[in-house]
Amino acid sequence: VDKNSQRLTIAIQKSGRLSKESIALLQACGFKFSLHEARLLAHSSNQSVDLLRVRDDDIPGLVMDGVVDLGLVGENVLEEVRLERQATQLACKVQRLRALDFGQCRLSIAVPKEEAYGGIQDLDGKRIATTYPYLLQNYLQQRGVSANNAILTGSVEVAPRAGLADAICDLVSTGATLEANGLVEKEVIFRSQAQLIQRPEPLSAAKQAIVDQLLPRIDGVQMARE
Ligand code: ATP
Ligand code: ZN
Repeated sequence: VDKNSQRLTIAIQKSGRLSKESIALLQACGFKFSLHEARLLAHSSNQSVDLLRVRDDDIPGLVMDGVVDLGLVGENVLEEVRLERQATQLACKVQRLRALDFGQCRLSIAVPKEEAYGGIQDLDGKRIATTYPYLLQNYLQQRGVSANNAILTGSVEVAPRAGLADAICDLVSTGATLEANGLVEKEVIFRSQAQLIQRPEPLSAAKQAIVDQLLPRIDGVQMARE
């Protein structure tokens, strides 16, 4: 990404649960894109806007470092990356422009259904498998619980059965995955939806003008869907 470019760069998830709705929202706001599966970058044909399509985990950091101007990402990932970068002294500021009306989910702690559960204190000294170690640690610390984390990058829901952990902390939407793995949701630690974020440093006048045009369009699109 050329930092001196006058084209506004927007990072979105390449393929996953936010991709379709991210593109649909930008298209509903009047931006035309032709997307090629293999390409990282997609130019708008009618605006000075480029889409950068990456893994969702990379979006907050790219915005915080000012590599891209805007990003569409789940608050869960935004907050996890923010806590991680805060702990490691990397830039962790962003401007939150809008909450978006998609990507709703929650990050929850679940335990095997045969385990008695009387409250969060029961997890003291236990091992919890997660891909969100910072959000989990934050929640436990505030409640005076010290658990051990098993940090995985996927398949968290099978960790208890595999003997890797006593509980899990994972994203839940319907609960079907938990159910299928014999787990019961016990604590909601974070509620999330997609967010539109902007890099901390001011934009050039040309880019700011595009954002000023985009925001009321997003409001209009979301209002019409309510
Ligand atoms: P990537 O390959 O980009 O890293 P991923 O596997 O980490 O993808 P997805 O499963 O596509 O991520 O989820 C992306 C985001 O969508 C989540 O971080 C969350 O904000 C949101 N999300 C998760 N589950 C749901 C759901 N059931 N419905 C809607 N949004 C969800
Ligand atoms: Zn991801």
